[in-house]
Amino acid sequence: MTFQSLKLADYILKAIQEEGYEKPTPVQSEAIPIVLSGRDLLACAQTGTGKTAAFAIPMIQLMQESNQMGKQKRIRGLVVTPTRELAIQIHESFGAYGRHTGIKQAVIFGGVKQESQVRALKAGIDLLIATPGRLLDLIQQGYISLKDIEFFVLDEADRMLDMGFIHDVKKIIKVLPQRKQSLFFSATMPDEITKLANVLLYKPGKVEVTPVSSTAETINQKLYYVEKGEKNTQLLNILDNKDIRSILVFTRTKHGADKVVKFLIKSNVKAMAIHGNKSQNARQNALNGFKDGSLRVLVATDIAARGIDVEELEWVLNYELPNIPETYVHRIGRTGRAGNKGSAISFCAEDERPYLKSIEKLIRLSIPKLNQPSFSNTKPEPTAQRNDKPAQTANRQGSSNYGYKKKNNKSSYNKRSAY
Ligand code: AMP
Repeated sequence: MTFQSLKLADYILKAIQEEGYEKPTPVQSEAIPIVLSGRDLLACAQTGTGKTAAFAIPMIQLMQESNQMGKQKRIRGLVVTPTRELAIQIHESFGAYGRHTGIKQAVIFGGVKQESQVRALKAGIDLLIATPGRLLDLIQQGYISLKDIEFFVLDEADRMLDMGFIHDVKKIIKVLPQRKQSLFFSATMPDEITKLANVLLYKPGKVEVTPVSSTAETINQKLYYVEKGEKNTQLLNILDNKDIRSILVFTRTKHGADKVVKFLIKSNVKAMAIHGNKSQNARQNALNGFKDGSLRVLVATDIAARGIDVEELEWVLNYELPNIPETYVHRIGRTGRAGNKGSAISFCAEDERPYLKSIEKLIRLSIPKLNQPSFSNTKPEPTAQRNDKPAQTANRQGSSNYGYKKKNNKSSYNKRSAY
């Protein structure tokens, strides 16, 4: 499959080539023709599969070809996504794929002053990328009207549910025009999300690139049983491994993230936390440092980590196991992206064993365990265990080795770290 065979316009093909993409990812090959044909779409795909381009590329083409360009600007496309980081990335992606079109867009999200966002809206836009709270806020203040929406994308619907945004999303859907093309993206499909999709979508084309609960086959997963009080020491042991140039560490709480960072800094390891209590600037600084390699350890809570798109991130550590099993899939999906290799290490204390049980049930495999006290001699090795088979792989479905590469990863990497 090539991008040419997807009947894309020259201005899109040129932009894709400039991005360094050689061929479409599975979600792109399947979703783009559905969207171009004007149908609604239900896509089960997690971050890292190339899902942003799967909706952005055909949307840009449809908007560009509807001969509305040059006329008075009205918001015709709306993308709603749960976090500001994702909103910024989607905005950048539209900017990249649409750089040879005249489509004007704006991005709005909470946590910052609204003035510059309002100015962008007043200047006139075709496309709006928004987080739910700020969108409703600016609608209420009369700065945004959704009456002309022709294309609506709901991104990461399951995260909206996890983050408590589902009511806001329902409110937004209520003010959208009846006639529109809707594209619905979710990594997992819990009942409430299936119900929402049924309300929103009309005879949608369906695309499923990763089975709901599978974890990427490119990711080497390991688990250590540890005493609660030993996690910090074990973390330092892991960081002794100089092959680990950067590692994303997950905690369940903001307080937990701060505690880990405090410990690491005291131990002379450069680390920063990213979570909801941090200002937008502090989050962006931490992210930029992590992306440009000057920050080795980034400690994140689940919500803050949504949308962290660090190409070639190889290591993820679950300092604490998540209490929602789907979150494990999301967390380890930060690594091993775009066909790169990745390793996910998890710590499991006695009181976390029930979480482990739920995770293994969901992913349908037993995560290989490395035993104490041989731990420090068996530091995870990035390549040697690549082909390790999990202890049980019963009923394991599918593969998510997307098998695609960029010709030139660096250009996009640098561009992404620019904001
Ligand atoms: P997403 O799932 O949209 O977050 O995309 C994950 C990463 O894959 C992003 O960094 C994209 O720039 C990259 N990407 C998307 N499509 C392709 C493609 N066809 N070839 C190579 N990289 C891609």
